[in-house]
Amino acid sequence: STFQDLGLNDDLLQAITDLGFTKPSEVQSKAIPILLENETDLVALAQTGTGKTAAFGFPMLHKINIDSRTTQGLILSPTRELCLQITNEMKLYGKYCKGLNVVAVYGGSSITDQARDVKKGAQIIVATPGRIKDMINRKLVDISKIEYAVLDEADEMLNMGFYEDITDILSNTPEDKCTWLFSATMPKEVSVIAKKFMENPQEITV
Ligand code: AMP
Repeated sequence: STFQDLGLNDDLLQAITDLGFTKPSEVQSKAIPILLENETDLVALAQTGTGKTAAFGFPMLHKINIDSRTTQGLILSPTRELCLQITNEMKLYGKYCKGLNVVAVYGGSSITDQARDVKKGAQIIVATPGRIKDMINRKLVDISKIEYAVLDEADEMLNMGFYEDITDILSNTPEDKCTWLFSATMPKEVSVIAKKFMENPQEITV
């Protein structure tokens, strides 16, 4: 299949051409049609390096309303490095989405600067759990209107002890949002999170 076949909009297809992506990876051809055609929860078993960032990133960019400045997408990742990497990729994928603001929120860097960037209007926030929880508590971010939440490397986040933070963060988001969970492995803790926060998730494995 091609990216055109998957149903992505022209702004995204143009970025894909610029990036030199010639065809979708396996996780992308499995996840993108499901996420574009349905408002569904998803559990995806996929390793890093499989193109999973684009597998959730393109559908999120396709579905959010860029004319609005409301935060509609939240991506949680275990580490600062991954958070910055995802943010960079999302900006590349969305380079032709005019008015798009993707903001990274992570520990070990100025919370004031991050809060200022968020306040300008971020349709998408990419965050590490500890920092965004802190910002929620201080009312520096509003994730009450999130439509899409991604838990990236869910197994890693749980290994690092973020269970409670993730639970607290998700409890500040609408019930009816879509949750897309990506994990390299599926230990019991990950199924517990999936059971607790997801409803009839579609499942894919690569
Ligand atoms: P990820 O697994 O999301 O960390 O992606 C691994 C690398 O593959 C990143 O550098 C992406 O930019 C790149 N990539 C993602 N999708 C594709 C694709 N369909 N074709 C070629 N490269 C890709």
